[in-house]
Amino acid sequence: MAKTMTKTAKSKGEMSKVEGGGDSGAILVDIVERARTAFEERNLRFTQLREQVFSEIASTRGSIGAYEILDRLSEKGTRLAPISVYRSIDALIEAGVIHRLESKNSYFACRRHEHGRKGRPIFMSCEQCGGVVEVPAQSIFDQVAELARSVDFTPKVKFMEVSGTCAQCRDKAKGE
Ligand SMILES: [Zn+2]
Ligand SMILES: [Zn+2]
Repeated sequence: MAKTMTKTAKSKGEMSKVEGGGDSGAILVDIVERARTAFEERNLRFTQLREQVFSEIASTRGSIGAYEILDRLSEKGTRLAPISVYRSIDALIEAGVIHRLESKNSYFACRRHEHGRKGRPIFMSCEQCGGVVEVPAQSIFDQVAELARSVDFTPKVKFMEVSGTCAQCRDKAKGE
């Protein structure tokens, strides 16, 4: 479970991108527990495979693609068919604990867990480090819906993305 995750994840290069260094293991356990609660609240099963897939996504600083998840799990001894990973990903999206970054066809863990109250978020995705920030922006989605109505169009948009540079990468570039 989460215990083995922290150990294996530390040995990976990706973990160096997670802020907080030594605390990242504890943070991951926390995020996994919140995901478990989200599943329980929706009467969905947080199976072992879903937990494994979620842990890989949550321990990534930016976003991660399905095949990278598959590779990482197989390095840890869990060999899976791509379809199994995709099914887990679908369940995780449905439970709202991960989101899909359309532009990169990759996934990242939701860190807000309050979309219901604050409205749908816009994803601000950093082109340098891959980090994603979620910003509640319900009014923008309302505006899109209104514009669509005005031209009698049925919109399908669920999330919006803005790419750019995060504060950390900007400051790093300044320091050089
Ligand atoms: Zn979210
Ligand atoms: Zn960045």
